[in-house]
Amino acid sequence: MRKPFISANWKMNKTIEETGEFINSFLPMVKDVTDVDILIAPPVTSLQAAASLLKATNVKLGAQNVFYEEKGAFTGEISPGMLLSAGCSYVIIGHSERRQYFMETDEIVNKKIKTARKNGLEVILCIGESLKEREENKTFEVLERQLTGSLKDISLEGITIAYEPIWAIGTGKTATKEQANEAHAHIREWLNKNRKGADKTRILYGGSVTPENIKSLMAEPEVDGALVGGASLKPDSFAGIVKGARK
Ligand code: PEP
Repeated sequence: MRKPFISANWKMNKTIEETGEFINSFLPMVKDVTDVDILIAPPVTSLQAAASLLKATNVKLGAQNVFYEEKGAFTGEISPGMLLSAGCSYVIIGHSERRQYFMETDEIVNKKIKTARKNGLEVILCIGESLKEREENKTFEVLERQLTGSLKDISLEGITIAYEPIWAIGTGKTATKEQANEAHAHIREWLNKNRKGADKTRILYGGSVTPENIKSLMAEPEVDGALVGGASLKPDSFAGIVKGARK
């Protein structure tokens, strides 16, 4: 069985002080949770402060993005080595907001995953279709294209997939549990056909997950956890999602 995995994606929210306040109130709420893997991905400015508060706890630290070169003249970019030295063990790559606002293609995502894995970071790869693509019945085609491009020449070791239908992100419109399970099953089928070890790969659902809907999503066989935006910003609501994810 795959261990449930709940990750926060704070996006461009929280100062260093706010990060500290969140962690100090969140940790006691989840200190006894050993049956769910928990990850927080704050903005890069908060990573080091978060790392020192999360040391020797059951909550891991991740970043929301990384660059595909290891060092050099790339003003404003952050390398995998820098994330490791700030205390990260994970990085989210290919989030739809990065694809939409920062023109990240599957090719760029692929390069980022390769450099992150080479340096020992675990990766959460985000994929998902737009509303138009779903309405045109292109969901599976889009997922396959993203998987093929993003995972080119990459094994599944250290990779978690997050299925995030773009129409469900930050909209309050969650995919139904059946829609989520169907997409996850299709992703797993592709992984099984094209890579070794797909049974162990966790597939998270992302898109307006709340403490109220997490249980029914997690009851689906192919849903191994969630990537959570809005509802991860408050300690009690994120703790509610973590506890609701127990299978
Ligand atoms: C996300 O940004 O990854 C996300 C799923 O956001 P939200 O939970 O707010 O829909």
